[in-house]
Amino acid sequence: MNRFRGPSRAVTKTRRWEALRLQALRRDDWACVQCGARSGLEVDHIQPVRDTPQRAYDLANLQTLCGRCHSRKTRIECGHPELRPERQAWRDLLCDMTRNLSSNGEQDA
Ligand SMILES: [Zn+2]
Repeated sequence: MNRFRGPSRAVTKTRRWEALRLQALRRDDWACVQCGARSGLEVDHIQPVRDTPQRAYDLANLQTLCGRCHSRKTRIECGHPELRPERQAWRDLLCDMTRNLSSNGEQDA
């Protein structure tokens, strides 16, 4: 499962990313673009790096999210973006199960 996060991590540890990240935060006025939170901010790729690596350093492809909105978006990317709520809940469950499997299956529900 780590291969999904790999490309993004390769980008986010570069110095070029650090500079770009600051530009994105400044542009979004240091607030989550979804809920307006001003703490725990992260800069997200709107189109995931694994899908569009050529836009990894494109400021227009970046948005400021708080940790909560960011993890919700990441979960949605694991499934399909346009699901009805009940389908989404099921998809979230599958996502979580997949994640648990990759972390040694210690969590037995
Ligand atoms: Zn938020």
